[in-house]
Order: sequence, then C-alpha cells, then structure tokens
Amino acid sequence: MATETGLVKMFFFPFIGGGHQIPMIDTARVFASHGAASTIIATPSHALNFQNLITRAQSSGHPITIHTLPAEIRDATDVTAGPMTDTTVLLQPLKTFLLRHPPDCIVIDMFHRWAGDLVDELRIPRIVFTGNGCFPRCVQENIRKYLNLENLSSDYEPFVVPNLPDKVELTKSQLPIFARNPSLFPDKMKDFEDKSFGTIINSFYELEPDYADYMRNELGKKAWIVGPVSLCNRSVEDKTQRGKLPTIDDQGCLKWLNSKEPHSVIYVCFGSLIRLPPQQLKEIAYGLEASGKSFVWVVGKIMKSSPKNKEEDDEDDVQTWLPEGFEERMKESNRGLIVRGWAPQLLILEHGAIGGFVTHCGWNSTLEGICAGVPMVTWPVTAEQFLNEKLVTSVLRIGVPVGSREWVWFRDEWKEVVGREMVEIAVKKLMGESEEAAEMRMRVKKIAESGTRAVEEGGTSYQDVDALIQELQERKVNNCNGEV
Ligand code: UDP
Repeated sequence: MATETGLVKMFFFPFIGGGHQIPMIDTARVFASHGAASTIIATPSHALNFQNLITRAQSSGHPITIHTLPAEIRDATDVTAGPMTDTTVLLQPLKTFLLRHPPDCIVIDMFHRWAGDLVDELRIPRIVFTGNGCFPRCVQENIRKYLNLENLSSDYEPFVVPNLPDKVELTKSQLPIFARNPSLFPDKMKDFEDKSFGTIINSFYELEPDYADYMRNELGKKAWIVGPVSLCNRSVEDKTQRGKLPTIDDQGCLKWLNSKEPHSVIYVCFGSLIRLPPQQLKEIAYGLEASGKSFVWVVGKIMKSSPKNKEEDDEDDVQTWLPEGFEERMKESNRGLIVRGWAPQLLILEHGAIGGFVTHCGWNSTLEGICAGVPMVTWPVTAEQFLNEKLVTSVLRIGVPVGSREWVWFRDEWKEVVGREMVEIAVKKLMGESEEAAEMRMRVKKIAESGTRAVEEGGTSYQDVDALIQELQERKVNNCNGEV
C-alpha cells in the first residue's frame, strides 16, 4: 500500500468493465503523479491487467500501489464485464481492508453500487466515478426534470431537450432504458452520487465548458474535472498495455500504418463490450470496401445469431461472417488491417496515418479520438452513447453520424442493422475533401490542443487534481486536530 507519511492517502476501487477500469487506473496514476499516495483495490486476476502499468509508474517514483482482495468475481475475470455484473462478493474483503487501513478518501465506480453504504458507514469520504462526461449528465437530468416522454407520439418523434445551452435533439428510441423508465434504475444507484463527497470526471473544462458550468451551478454537483486521463500514457508500453494485451503485435501494426499516407486510414472499433451481430459485420465490410479508404478494423467477439444464453461469448470465427474473399482482397491490396480481439487503441489513434475514427461513442473512445485530433463517424449503440454522439456532432461539430437510431441493451439482439450504403457515405463524408470535412479536422485539432494544455502544469484539469488533494489534505489536518 502507498503510505508515505503525510501524503494524502487515496484509494481507487475500479469496476471491471474496460470502459470503467481503464480510465480509473489512469486516474489513480494521475493523482499519484501529483503526489497523492494512491492504492488501487482489485481482485488478483484484474490486477494482472494493469500490473505492468503500475510497476512502471512506481519506477518513475510515483507513490502508487495495488492492493488485491482475496476474492474473484466469477465469470468476469477480464475487462468485459457489463454494468450489471454482480461484484458483491468483494464486500467483506473490502470492509476488512478499509477497517484496517482507513484512507483519506476512496474513489468508487458507481457500478459497485453496494459499496456506498459500506463506505458511508465507515465514515470515509467517498468520491464517485461514473465514467462519463458533463454533457450526458446535463441532458439526462433535464429530460428527467422537464419532459414527459409519454407525451411523444412515437419512439422516433424528435424532441429538443429543454433548458440546455445548445439545441440538442433526440428521439426516445435513442435514450437509455433508465432514462426512458426511471423506475428500472437500480435503487442503490439513485442516491449513490448525491450522498457522496463529490464526483471525479474524466473530461476537461475546455471541451464542454457550458456543460461543466451547468452541471456545477444549475445541477449543484460538486465535481473535479481531471482529464483527459488517457494522456498520462506517454510511452509505447503504456499505450499498448491498457485493459488487455493487444492481440496484434504493436510493431507490426505501426509498420502497417507507417506504410500509409498521413490521415488516409480510418480506424473502426466498438469498445470493450459491444458484440456486433454477424449481419452488421457484413454490412461494415461492404461499406468499408466501397468507401475506397484504407482501414484498421477491430472485430471483437460476435453476437450469436440466436443467443441461447445472452452472457455467453461467441467464439465463432469472424471469417465465416465476412463477405466471400473480403479478407484476402484487403490483404492483397494492403487496404485493410483486421484485428481480431483487442487493439492498442491509443497507439493507433495517435498515429499520423489515421484520419478518422468510426466509434461507438463510448466516453473513453470519444475522448481518446478527440485528444488524438481525429474526427469521427459516430455509431452509438448503448449506455449514454447516443448522448455522446450529440456532443460530437451537434455541439462540437467534429463528427458525422452514421445514422443508427436504436438504443439496445448490451447483449440483446439489435432491432436494426446499419446498411452498407450508410457506412460508405459517412466514411466518405468524413475522410473527403469537402470544406465541411476540412473544418471538422481543424476544429478537432484545436480541441485536442486544449486537452493537452488542460493536463499540463497550470491547466484546468491539473488544477482540479491539486484542488482535490488540497481539500483532502486540509480535511486530514482538521481531523487530526479533532475539528471534523
Ligand atoms: N480499447 C482498446 N482496445 C480495443 C478496444 C477498446 O484499447 O480493442 C479501450 C479504449 O481505448 C477505451 C476502452 O477500451 O479506453 C473502451 O472504453 P469506451 O468507454 O470507449 O467503451 P466501452 O468499452 O465502455 O463500451
């Protein structure tokens, strides 16, 4: 455990899904680099996913360590756990650890919803990590406060979200199930944030200033905006060892990208959780081929055509679902690189050959694309991804929507697939020579620069990290003096 005397002692308790675990590990490293004694709490098998990153941070002199709890979460030993994965098996070991070594605060992922009561009972300041940005929080809150979705004539009738700084138009079909029907929201999650000491947000003020202000001032949230945390990954090793080990050799991948013209390749990836139905894979393949652009396409696991068990992963070979001869044609012409499994996403996005990103709009991927200065084809599927799409396309104007319309629960069957023409049109539009495309590229580059500045000394995120450490330090001193 990182216990240097006098340092603020922060614990981080990440969830196990990729989109939550990866940024929380980065966040712990950011706080350690600012001098907080940071301890990441994990199960032994999850710790293996980031052990190397932490060993390297330690060698750089940062006060960071991992504490493993003597328990495992059955059926979820890698980073593909869904939001409903039950982690309560960790309750007792966590309690024992916290009783023995109370920290100055613990940062907890909201999906460990049971942990709120435990930590409050132990009177440890609890900081929430939700994994998303300021924008979707404001959108969801205003929909809840000001709209009666029952009044809409259909799931596809567009409505404008009231009282937001920008005009944000959505349909009911794009809303997360919890936003459509708040009674489905797990009880423990409802007041998880309200009763906390505050929230850590992986974003940066300059990206969404109006929404950061709205969230703090109008919604009354106490929040430290400390990102983009992925920028703490500076070495090739750090960039390739996030979440899982890539299933493609990084040098081979870089060599392939090096052979391409600047900004000529589109990168396609749907994050750590989403499984695409086979018909959708086929449409993507045809669309990419017709676009005439070079691509790197990360094909993760595929959804079974008729899933017997929704939690079951399909090991079917991608080959069987691709159009006849597709892979051979792409290989021969050197047009496409297909990655089966896990790609070194940061490394790829930051390569000069990448000119666009087809993304599912998971918040981390969105931020990573923005920080790499890469415009996006937005293809939201689940979670708050349709809201992130609006930030990218309507507010920041750095992306082109592919045209997906239907929010779907992680592993449920898709109601509709996006056709090959839509893929082709969106990719051509994004990667084309039009004035609109050039402007998008210019805008995203500017935002990327402000993201880099935010985490540098004196930047807004840098200051927020220091502000939280300072607040915890003062609290600690007051505690010692018996004032709290
Ligand atoms: N990721 C990666 N390689 C992959 C797929 C995903 O490195 O092949 C990383 C990606 O860089 C991001 C995270 O996994 O940090 C995915 O998080 P996001 O919020 O985008 O989506 P989610 O997985 O939660 O749907």
